[in-house]
Amino acid sequence: MKLLSVIVPCYNEEENIRDFYDELFKNDLFFRENEIDVEVIYVDDGSKDKTVAEVKKLRTEDERVHLLSFSRNFGKEAAIYAGLQKSKGNLVVLMDADLQDPPSLLPEMYKYIEEGYDSVATRRVTRKGEPPIRSFFARIFYRLMNKISKTEIVDGARDFRLMTRQVVDAILAMTEYNRFTKGIFGWVGYETKWLEYENIERKKGETKWSFWKLFLYSLEGITAFSTMPLTAAAVIGALFCILAFCLIIVIIVKTLIFGDPTSGWPSMVCFMLLVGGIQLFCLGIAGQYLSKTYMEVKKRPIYLVKEDI
Ligand code: UDP
Ligand code: MG
Repeated sequence: MKLLSVIVPCYNEEENIRDFYDELFKNDLFFRENEIDVEVIYVDDGSKDKTVAEVKKLRTEDERVHLLSFSRNFGKEAAIYAGLQKSKGNLVVLMDADLQDPPSLLPEMYKYIEEGYDSVATRRVTRKGEPPIRSFFARIFYRLMNKISKTEIVDGARDFRLMTRQVVDAILAMTEYNRFTKGIFGWVGYETKWLEYENIERKKGETKWSFWKLFLYSLEGITAFSTMPLTAAAVIGALFCILAFCLIIVIIVKTLIFGDPTSGWPSMVCFMLLVGGIQLFCLGIAGQYLSKTYMEVKKRPIYLVKEDI
């Protein structure tokens, strides 16, 4: 018998808990035909609504439902990590509670695992239903990220992924505090089959990711999987040194030939502002890495469990 662990991170998803369960077990025939046992692990990421109560209600009806509840909101990445740690299955799948990751795709994903792939990942080929400005910045992010990072990060990739135990253990071995899962998947490697599908809009409730949250998340991704900004800062600094050196020579020569007229004050101020700005910018880049290092060094737990049922 095979065991499939379904990990569902939930943050204020009370309306979706049961819908997700129903939708998942529409695959019942497929599970039975392939002798797959299922455990559903709802990871409650400190929800403020009735998410926990909903899961508990399901649990009284079906023993295969498990609940892991956090002491507060730790973020989706932490919820994924906790779910992976708790999972016992030899196959594990990550799915959103809002049904944007269609459970009807599971049989096809399973087929590829049977064929010998280590993981089956999904990406959306459209961003229908998303604000255009969000799609625009997402595209820029992926393009930039793939230029400056050696780890492949696929545009439109979702966290919806079916993995073998081997891959899960590899991901669990990465115990970093700043978890950028999209990068971690790429980093661990293994043979991955990509399935594509059109974006599906969220069934109920609303997205938990504001533009600002996404922006911070993208910075996290860059600092976690590339040190290119640090190199860029050093290069900018070096270029400015060379420029300054050339200008000094020009000024000395000019003074020797034409004397010392005290002009050029406004241009001086502009230049000082520019250089000061660049210095602060580069200091900020270094600061980003320092702050991430600081958080890593503290070795705080990635999440805290309140209830484990
Ligand atoms: N989520 C979470 N913690 C958070 C934010 C989101 O566990 O802090 C869960 C959420 O409940 C959902 C999944 O992560 O199951 C994806 O979130 P959402 O649908 O809001 O993101 P979107 O699909 O809009 O990118
Ligand atoms: Mg969603």
